[in-house]
Amino acid sequence: MNIINTIQDLRNIIKNTKATVGFVPTMGALHDGHISLIKKAKEENDIVVVSIFVNPTQFLAGEDLDSYPVKMEVDKKICELCKVDILFTPNINMMYGNDEVLIKAPILRSYTLEGQRRPEHFDGVLQIVLKLFNIVQPDNAYFGKKDAQQLSLIKQMVDDLFLDINIVECDIIRESDGLAMSSRNIYLTKPQRELSLNISKSLRIASNLVAKNCLDCDEIITAMGKVLQQMDIEYISIVNQKFERIEKIELKNTIILIAVKVDNTRLIDNIWI
Ligand code: AMP
Repeated sequence: MNIINTIQDLRNIIKNTKATVGFVPTMGALHDGHISLIKKAKEENDIVVVSIFVNPTQFLAGEDLDSYPVKMEVDKKICELCKVDILFTPNINMMYGNDEVLIKAPILRSYTLEGQRRPEHFDGVLQIVLKLFNIVQPDNAYFGKKDAQQLSLIKQMVDDLFLDINIVECDIIRESDGLAMSSRNIYLTKPQRELSLNISKSLRIASNLVAKNCLDCDEIITAMGKVLQQMDIEYISIVNQKFERIEKIELKNTIILIAVKVDNTRLIDNIWI
């Protein structure tokens, strides 16, 4: 595995290759969710580039930027075991300058749900993803459905800015007890983690209701709310894949999303129906 920490070095390698390049951008503290993206990228490309960069512009003041888990040595080992070809680990100074050209996420799809609680979060996400795309120039880029709104916005950016990159959507990987894997799960104490199981439980209840032909979104949200009663719910929402709120479930075009806070830890999860 080639560990690269300058933009120029990465460019030199990419420029000289005719191979297909698969790209998995991450913020590190790698877990099985990230590994599933890497494995898919390995299957579908000649070369796989993984980036690890904790992007400051997507964190708001008061969020966990300073305490975000950094596990670079373990991450390097994981990438090696996954046979990643290039691990790109840039630093903040090379990724950002002063008074930059800024990307603005589209208002309708980005200032609801995650964006309502975290205004400008998606501006920062799109800014860094576009920079990374321009450096890595991948054929295929891999993103998890866990961050459904992010995925939708990245797909829109690719369309709107005519980027020649195929975005590959990857399924959510869960712990055996149902909790969606996240780098932030390590913040949870044992009782908090137990309480957090209600998140995936409520999504299972929603999917069972749909299986029984209950397609009314209010009814589903009410049933989910009951399971999450003890939790600090930020939102339970049902949208189509354009992130427009819907009243009736549209099969193959619906995402049911949850965000809760467990003490100071923010957890998100969803299912695609
Ligand atoms: P992050 O390091 O949190 O920025 O995540 C990097 C990529 O991994 C994003 O595309 C996430 O959606 C994806 N990811 C994170 N957790 C999971 C998960 N549990 N299952 C699938 N993909 C995930």
